[in-house]
Amino acid sequence: MVKKLVNPEKSTQFEKSGVKIGLEIHVQITALNTKLFCGCSSDYRGKEPNSLVCPVCLGLPGSLPVTNRRAVDSAVMVARALNSKISHRTIFYRKNYFYVDMTKNFQITQYDKAGGIPLSIGGWVDFEANGTIKRVRIIRLQMEEDPARLSYHGTIDSSPYTLVDYNRAGIALLEIVTEPDMTSADEARLFLQKLRSIIEHLGVSNGDLQGSMRCDANISLQGGKRVEIKNISSFREVKRALQYEIIRQKQLIRRGSTVKQETRHWDADRRLTISLRTKETESDYRYFPEPDLVPVEISENWIKEIEFKMPELPDARKTRLVKEFDIPEYDAGVLTSSKALADFFEECCCLYPDAKKISNWIMTDLARNLKDLGIEISESKIKPKYLTDMLKLIDEGEISGKIAKKILSKIVRDGEPPQKIIQKENLIKIGDKTQIQKIIDKVFEEFPKAVQDAKTDPNAINYLVGQVMQETRGKADPEITNKLIRKTLEKHKNT
Ligand code: ADP
Ligand code: MG
Ligand code: ZN
Repeated sequence: MVKKLVNPEKSTQFEKSGVKIGLEIHVQITALNTKLFCGCSSDYRGKEPNSLVCPVCLGLPGSLPVTNRRAVDSAVMVARALNSKISHRTIFYRKNYFYVDMTKNFQITQYDKAGGIPLSIGGWVDFEANGTIKRVRIIRLQMEEDPARLSYHGTIDSSPYTLVDYNRAGIALLEIVTEPDMTSADEARLFLQKLRSIIEHLGVSNGDLQGSMRCDANISLQGGKRVEIKNISSFREVKRALQYEIIRQKQLIRRGSTVKQETRHWDADRRLTISLRTKETESDYRYFPEPDLVPVEISENWIKEIEFKMPELPDARKTRLVKEFDIPEYDAGVLTSSKALADFFEECCCLYPDAKKISNWIMTDLARNLKDLGIEISESKIKPKYLTDMLKLIDEGEISGKIAKKILSKIVRDGEPPQKIIQKENLIKIGDKTQIQKIIDKVFEEFPKAVQDAKTDPNAINYLVGQVMQETRGKADPEITNKLIRKTLEKHKNT
């Protein structure tokens, strides 16, 4: 496979599509026990609304925030993994705005202008897209607090009221801002997939948790004004939101009007974007340094300590999988695109000797079943042992490959071991010659025309094999069936 690094600034992709996409990704640091500036539990999912709050995260007068050291550890680790230059002295800013999702009327965040120093600057993520390595540059990484979670009755633009849950207010977030280097919705999805794999390998965040990885997408067409799409609640929704917005902007341009710079809201239920407000300008936020927090000094030693603890990243894992299990680079790339998938593969390899066979089943049948159900491997009840047991059953001649495919879709859906499914549905392969012969005789009687044709036409033989398979619901051993049908035909020829 020939691969080259595409320089985003010289990309011809952009000239072709005219689409420019830049992302602002918010990642909750779910590996922490507490919030970013107070001791409240960060384990807010499924908890009674407004039960995990304190004077600090509610912003009551006189309360003082203290920066969570472990949050900085995680942030530094992500910055290193994204090749971003870490600031040795980083400070927090107040972003002032009046809205119910922040009781303080400001969000503690970081800023890269007017003297602000974000956690880190620059960096990049490389990922595979259409057989080449694509690079998306990172502008900056910053730490900030999550605002409260809002829920609406029905849709945002028609809801008669808004419910506010402050349990999420103050949760540690990492904001990752990219350059507008992506040129299609697909590229954006592949970039996010790689980013998620990196972050999950670091153990910083669990993307399976609802709302733990969110993203705002900025998109412009043919050098026009950019539109910011907010409220994309999961990485999965990004592609849909961008596809919708590309079509909307194209239609505007075709009709001769121009795209306004504005913020639009992604409505996942109705699958469209709606205009919320024209974009605030920087000065609306009155950014200034947070006087209640000391700057965070990140020494070279602190960074070294974290580098030392850094786990294996997807790219290194890909190289290792190729070496250790002798699988093609392509397979290793697909498997490491998700931590859960790579973990699943490696666990299977402890239980079954043929790694390539395992990877084939994961990349084709398992992937297809997951896609059909619209779930990820971590949401399926399949266990590595179920897949390897199934492969052993094929090797032992207990089931055919065709039956195995059927069984796998049941394993993925219901999480039952293959042995149980085989028993329950009576799927053991029929390898008994007398039993198969009986069925062949029956088929020969039922389809005399096909038998006649089969004497000269190999296609008609396949038809007869098909009938035996149908009769046995795919359980007849295909090799034995084929042999016996030919034998029976010979006998017919001679009579
Ligand atoms: P703001 O503070 O106004 O949101 P940022 O500097 O944080 O501005 O950048 C926001 C995002 O907008 C970045 O991800 C950047 O890549 C993206 N962006 C900038 N210019 C364009 C453009 N012309 N088309 C699409 N996205 C853009
Ligand atoms: Mg921004
Ligand atoms: Zn609190």
